[in-house]
Amino acid sequence: MARILVLGGGIGGIVAANALRRRVGRMHDVTLIERTGKHLFAPSLFWMLRGWRSLEQIQRPLDPLRRKGIEVLRAEVECIDTNGKIVQTSAGAVPYDYLVISLGAELQPGAIPGLAEHGYNLYDAEDIVRLREALGQFKGKAVVLVSRLPFKCPAAPYEAAFLLRELLPDSEVELCTPEPLPMPVTGPKLGTAVREMLASQGITFSPERKVVRVDKGKVLFEGQETRFDLLAYVPPHSAPAVLKDARLTNDSGWVPVDAKSLRTPAKGVYAVGDCTSITLPDGKPLPKAGVFAHRQAEAVAMTIAAELGRGKAQEFDGAGMCFLETASGVAGLASGNFYGTPRDIRMHGPSRLYGLLKALFERYWFWKWL
Ligand SMILES: Cc1cc2nc3c(=O)[nH]c(=O)nc-3n(C[C@H](O)[C@H](O)[C@H](O)COP(=O)(O)OP(=O)(O)OC[C@H]3O[C@@H](n4cnc5c(N)ncnc54)[C@H](O)[C@@H]3O)c2cc1C
Repeated sequence: MARILVLGGGIGGIVAANALRRRVGRMHDVTLIERTGKHLFAPSLFWMLRGWRSLEQIQRPLDPLRRKGIEVLRAEVECIDTNGKIVQTSAGAVPYDYLVISLGAELQPGAIPGLAEHGYNLYDAEDIVRLREALGQFKGKAVVLVSRLPFKCPAAPYEAAFLLRELLPDSEVELCTPEPLPMPVTGPKLGTAVREMLASQGITFSPERKVVRVDKGKVLFEGQETRFDLLAYVPPHSAPAVLKDARLTNDSGWVPVDAKSLRTPAKGVYAVGDCTSITLPDGKPLPKAGVFAHRQAEAVAMTIAAELGRGKAQEFDGAGMCFLETASGVAGLASGNFYGTPRDIRMHGPSRLYGLLKALFERYWFWKWL
């Protein structure tokens, strides 16, 4: 019997646990460890800002996975010993034969002086509730700030800017980012198209802004500054400390994996999703996005199953897609293969059809995995 341990109950984790359970056969043990005991579907976070969802509606307890034969342990992962093949948790030590790490990225708003104090964290459910309240009476200048690279979901700050534009028709909206163009990994054509969409809605796009600190009403960048009445930010990200302590990260700060097999240098250890670092053929990093966590997790599950004598191994091929919501019920869909040379990522829409597909995808997600 093999003991397969999945760390993290986010997008990569629940897909890996489900796909492993389905493929490896009942004699093998599949355990999922998650600190919150819940799965949060982050792509729906901004619908909380619209007032379309509550936090309860976009998260689910993981306990029902037990009915499928997945062990669920609500615990903090405290230490990973890849030599001894043991994970220490707040609920005790758990040995493994195969380890799938999907612990995501840690958000570090405190890494930039004044950021947390003066702004709202767009990636935090509690801050989104506070931001929604603040928007009620707001009139003035709203700034969406991408504080550092890399960050998860290349489209999210642009969606936030479109959303603020719609909710604050009488206010000024500016988007400041260290990126040279929107979603630069998708290429100049798509980036220029998004830039034009921002301009057509009267949103000021300020690229190549590297934030140094935030004061009351003012973001200070290297060599320039921007005034704001309301600041909504994407915080700096880092790999979870537990992965650094286990020496699973490299100089990039993230977990290096083989681009196709998702193997880490440690024996029997795979990593998927936001905690990983994958360099594309042109030297750019593969973006951090749920679609990749999802597809990588499926590939890893098939590979582990094949090692256990079930079916064929599968490689992650780099294909992905992502919705970009540009207005209420309207979205574009960017899709293509990120491992392609040249990379050919295209934008379909925006249209109501893709807006509808985005809404249906959320339903499908909870039905399929939880
Ligand atoms: C506002 C927003 C919108 C987004 N929209 C999209 C979108 O439209 N499309 C898309 O593809 N992606 C989107 N994303 C990105 C997507 O949510 C992430 O890329 C994806 O969730 C990554 O999956 P993951 O499994 O790597 O990490 P996560 O889903 O973040 O899961 C990590 C899990 O590990 C747990 N964990 C961490 N450390 C520990 C520990 N020490 N012990 C126990 N548990 C731990 C966490 O609690 C968490 O549940 C969006 C993100 C945000 C914030």
